[in-house]
Amino acid sequence: MDCIFCKIASKEIPSEKVYEDNQIVAFNDLDPQAPVHVLIIPKKHIQSADQITDDDKEVIGKIFVVASKIAKELGLENGYRIVNNCGEDSGQTVQHLHFHLMGGRKMHWPAG
Ligand code: AMP
Ligand code: ZN
Repeated sequence: MDCIFCKIASKEIPSEKVYEDNQIVAFNDLDPQAPVHVLIIPKKHIQSADQITDDDKEVIGKIFVVASKIAKELGLENGYRIVNNCGEDSGQTVQHLHFHLMGGRKMHWPAG
C-alpha cells in the first residue's frame, strides 16, 4: 500500500522518532506548527478516526498514554494539545490515522 506513514512505521522512509513500541510510532512533524510537534500513529494502517473499530480500542487507548509520556519527556508541563483531523472537511492530508501532539507555545482555539 502506498502510504507514507506505513512507510515511516516500517522504516522504509526515515523519520525523527521520539517513541516506538510494537504497536505505535511517534516522530517529529516535517512542518512543525509549534516548538514541539510530534505525530503519534498506530503501526496498523487505519485510514482515519472514522475507521476505528473495536479491534483498535487497545492501541487507541495506548496512544494517549504514550502522548502524556512524550509530553513529560519533552517538557510540556504547561500543557499541550492533541489534535486529530478526520476527513476532507477537517483538512486531513495523510490518510493514515495520526494524532498531532503540539506544545511549547500558547495555543489558540478553535484553530492554530
Ligand atoms: P494532517 O493534515 O492532519 O493529515 O497532518 C499530516 C501531517 O503530516 C502534516 O502536519 C505534515 O507536515 C506531516 N507530514 C507529512 N509527511 C511527513 C513526513 N514524511 N514526516 C513527518 N511528517 C510528515
Ligand atoms: Zn498507512
